[in-house]
Amino acid sequence: MTDVLLDTHCHLDAYPDPSYILAGATTAGVELVAVTNGPDDYRRMATLLPRSGPARAALGLHPLNAERLGMGGVLRFSRHAADAAWIGEIGLDFSPAGRDTRTTQLRTFDALLALPQLQDRPVSVHTRGADRIAVQRLADAGIRAVLHWYTGPLDVADDALAAGLHFSINPAMLASAKGRTLLAKLPHDRVLFETDGPHTRRAGQPCQPANLPDMVENLAQLWGVNATQVHTQICANQRRIIGETTAASK
Ligand SMILES: [Zn+2]
Repeated sequence: MTDVLLDTHCHLDAYPDPSYILAGATTAGVELVAVTNGPDDYRRMATLLPRSGPARAALGLHPLNAERLGMGGVLRFSRHAADAAWIGEIGLDFSPAGRDTRTTQLRTFDALLALPQLQDRPVSVHTRGADRIAVQRLADAGIRAVLHWYTGPLDVADDALAAGLHFSINPAMLASAKGRTLLAKLPHDRVLFETDGPHTRRAGQPCQPANLPDMVENLAQLWGVNATQVHTQICANQRRIIGETTAASK
């Protein structure tokens, strides 16, 4: 991948017809990271994806699955960690949906962050309702994380920037006042793209990687630059997060 836009957080396995989404990505000339919510989902995804296609599988353990998967899930995750080029999604969720499982989530998150493989590849992280503690853990672990769909406090975003973290932005963020406020503060070299499809919607349809070229146009307006400059910047950021993390392992 050199100058191809990358959707760094897409739930390919949650669409009714993943092959249609892959075909759309190919037509649009974009690539995607197919995040997963558990190590068994990752194994299925890694087996199904064609090697030369536009998608690569990411190894995940979603915080809202931490309780159900338990330490067995962490063990299965660790067995796959060496062969996954991307990690995600992992993280913490202390919103009402995850409030009751906080202790297990933290134990799981800490166990995953301690894996040596997480030091040398990009990690897509969910932080809903737990932004401050998640950023602190990532900074302490020295993980080069990409905060996915960040909706937390702006001062915690400052901490994340100070820790060298990146942010992946999606069409819902570009369309919301809160997302635009965050974007106004992010240095251009810390921004990556995601859709979080199919969990975000655009014009009444679930977002998909083929929407990335439209995101370039929207971001160009927001940044007050032209589309080519946005494309060049985002591709440079992608290369850096992949290159940096790979170089660190050598
Ligand atoms: Zn997600």
